[in-house]
Parts: sequence; C-alpha cells; structure tokens
Amino acid sequence: MEEQLWKAIWKRAGRKYSVALVNHPKLRATGKTLDEAVEKLGDLISEELGDAVPHLEFVNPLPASGSGRFIFTLAGHNQNYDVINADALFDSAQCPKCHNQMGERNEELIQLRKPPEDDLMFTDWLGQIISRRLATFLKLQKCNEVILRPIVIRGKVSSEFLEVISISPRPYVAKKGVKGSWGEFWCKKCERKSIMYMPHEADYLHYVAADSLPDPKVSVFPVGVGYEVDIAVSKTLREAVIRSGQFKNVVSHMVGVLQKREYLTLEEYFSKFKRSKRAT
Ligand SMILES: [Zn+2]
Repeated sequence: MEEQLWKAIWKRAGRKYSVALVNHPKLRATGKTLDEAVEKLGDLISEELGDAVPHLEFVNPLPASGSGRFIFTLAGHNQNYDVINADALFDSAQCPKCHNQMGERNEELIQLRKPPEDDLMFTDWLGQIISRRLATFLKLQKCNEVILRPIVIRGKVSSEFLEVISISPRPYVAKKGVKGSWGEFWCKKCERKSIMYMPHEADYLHYVAADSLPDPKVSVFPVGVGYEVDIAVSKTLREAVIRSGQFKNVVSHMVGVLQKREYLTLEEYFSKFKRSKRAT
C-alpha cells in the first residue's frame, strides 16, 4: 500500500520551534524542541486529516541531530511490488537463508505489472526505479557510477521509467565503538553484511567513509551495499528535488560521514563480533 507523505517546513523563532505542513499551512504546531513540535503536528494530522501514522518530509534540511559531517541521499518512499520477473534478473538464485540476491545482474530487463506511481521507488533486492524526468533532472545519465536500464511495463519497453544499477557504490561503514544492536546483519550462508543504527545508538542510520567520497564538485553518486543503493546528492540538488513539488514520493535521508579513525569497514566490524549474530 502506498503511504501518504506530508511535506513540512520547520523554523526556529527565538527559543521555540514551529513546524507546518506545506500544503495545509494552517496545520502548524510549536514546541520548545523540534521533536515536541513535530509530535504535536503529528497529532494534528491524525485529528484533522485522518492519517494516524503520518510520515513527514521536511523541505528545508533539519538541523543536524549530532555533530559531524553528513551527506544527503534520495530514496523512494514506497516499495514497488510489481516486479514480475525477479527470479530471472540474476545469474544465480537467491540466498536460501536471507533471500539476498547473489550473483551478477544479467542483461534481462525488469518487468513490471503496471506503471510506477512515484518518481522514485525502492524494490526488494534490486536497485531503485526512477522516472526518466527525475533521472534527467539529476543528470544521472552523466553519472558513470550507475547504469540506467529501461524497464518493461505490461510487455512494452518504457521510455518513462528506468532501473538504477550501481556499479560500485561507496559502501556503508560501521561507526567505531558503536554496536548496531537491532540493525546489524551477517548472513553466514551468502556473506551479506549490513548495518543500520537506531536513533539511541548513533546520530545517523548509516555512515560512509570520508575517504570513499568523490570530489565535492560531484553532485550525484551511489552509496550503499550490493544492489540496494541510494543516490547521494548535493545539498542544492536535494533542496531542488524536495522543494520542487513535481516529483512524487521522493524522500531524503542524511548519512553520516566518518573519518578514518572513526570507522570500520563491515568486514572489520563483523570480524570483531564473530559469535554475536547469525542469520535468522
Ligand atoms: Zn544470505
């Protein structure tokens, strides 16, 4: 099911924070902290607009929750469940234990049951599906770290939507000294490793290594693990996409950036906790 995404804007006035919905500016709330204001706005949305679990996307970047550098990534808010040929897209079968796609992506095009409704959507184990107009807006066609492939919709090759395949995404890393108690995963069968932090554990869900990032002038590049990549974008591009209102259900996330002394690669991280996690 598609979930509603509410665009919101925040500002700080003196010692108070206020938040409002962009399309319903009368729905606004204030608080001593941003969290308090957001919580009140959530209650108002439930009462006035009937969405009990509202998801907010702020059009202006939130103040960094912690210290240190971060980058923005764009991702789809919804998953696309209409891929009908997932089994035919890789040169070997899914991992029987964790369902990770093993092997290389072959030449087969993704086939969808119907046209995607959003400009960016994530998929299960594949890359993201992006509308051509968003890809063009981001100049993704010029990014040599991704391959854009056409998608077959209802049996016809579509010129409107593309699959984003990352060639070598800059990988997520582990924050030294922090245990991802809920979000760490190491499949002993296929060796897939991933890590994600809860808000009480670290400032960001994911981290990348500063020394893996491209020249700051590069405004679009992939980050992530395996085929499940996110599209990192410059602050300016992120603002343009989220503010524009012409791209549907595109959300942004902040990914922390760690210096050499602050991170471990996932291989290094998991070798330290060899006994702690098993695939379930
Ligand atoms: Zn596995």
